[in-house]
Amino acid sequence: MTQDILSLNINELRTLMTELGHPLYRAEQVFEWLHRRGVAFFDAPFAKMDNLPKALRDALETACHVPNFRVADKLISKDGTVKFLFDCGGVFIESVLMQYNHGHSVCISTQAGCRMGCVFCASAIGGLVRNLSAGEMCAQVYAMPEKVSSIVLMGCGEPLDNFDETLRFIELITHEKGANIGARHITLSTCGLVPEIHALAERKMQINLAVSLHGPTDDVRRRFMPITNRYPLEELIEACRLYAETTRRRVTFEYALASGINDTPAHARQLAQLVKGMLCHINLIPINKKSRDKSHFFPTPRVGIDAFAAVLDTAKIPVTVRRSLGSDISAACGQLRAQKIVHQPE
Ligand code: SAH
Repeated sequence: MTQDILSLNINELRTLMTELGHPLYRAEQVFEWLHRRGVAFFDAPFAKMDNLPKALRDALETACHVPNFRVADKLISKDGTVKFLFDCGGVFIESVLMQYNHGHSVCISTQAGCRMGCVFCASAIGGLVRNLSAGEMCAQVYAMPEKVSSIVLMGCGEPLDNFDETLRFIELITHEKGANIGARHITLSTCGLVPEIHALAERKMQINLAVSLHGPTDDVRRRFMPITNRYPLEELIEACRLYAETTRRRVTFEYALASGINDTPAHARQLAQLVKGMLCHINLIPINKKSRDKSHFFPTPRVGIDAFAAVLDTAKIPVTVRRSLGSDISAACGQLRAQKIVHQPE
């Protein structure tokens, strides 16, 4: 089995150079080729590394590979959002390129499928297929046709359930000799794995943490997210408070509104009470009905969203309503992959 060279950091590339009998400084050259120039997406990537001696290119060809990664489908929305379906050696994952005033943002996947089982989320259909490697996460960024200035880990999968590879990805993508994306321009979204939030806080990185809440009490949240049974809200909120205090970064709470389930003014008041005094911000999202959805969740109409936001605003909790991009191309949360699964022959 050859090594996935796109997942290696510079120290590991130095070890590889030693093993292959080449000088250490070659490690940085290889890293730059892979992570700055995106050479991984040329056919025969090693042959293209023309400032390396032929002997090293040949040795890399024998000892390493880049992730098996192909565009399987691409949909372009009227608003400019582009959704990519990638084939990673037989498993499908999605990434979404979004255009904002300040540049391009890409939403990437950290796992093929997901085992968290949130009832409204299309990524949960079929459970977890496998974790993605850090190299496969980088590949999603490098495959984009535009220069990317920010990254959200909000595609398929639970990033903290693939902790080591996700952190390795952040190390690689923020490296100044590579893509050099600032940690402050990276947002990691989690369903709320408490021990991993603590572990993340200890690293004191400058990334943004987003936590999917979707309910102000355990009873309401449990209707959407089975993870509530493992980590009750009290523990989750405590972990978020600690994260905000340790990193001095504002935590974002994502709250998808479903008509009559979690969207009343009373729910908004409970939510305000829950997060009171924390360095945080609430992002309201109208719940998106996933394909093959057997649940009875329907999106809260705009007036309901505004009324919910007004309660939070009065309680002095910072709140925004998420702009919905790419709804005409199934850009939300595992929907394209779900369609692909549906369309695949049994
Ligand atoms: N596992 C991570 C990241 C992936 S989901 C997490 O749970 O945060 C990214 C965001 O999309 C989460 O906030 C998730 O709850 C939300 N989401 C998933 N399906 C949705 C749907 N049908 N409607 C609205 N938001 C959804």
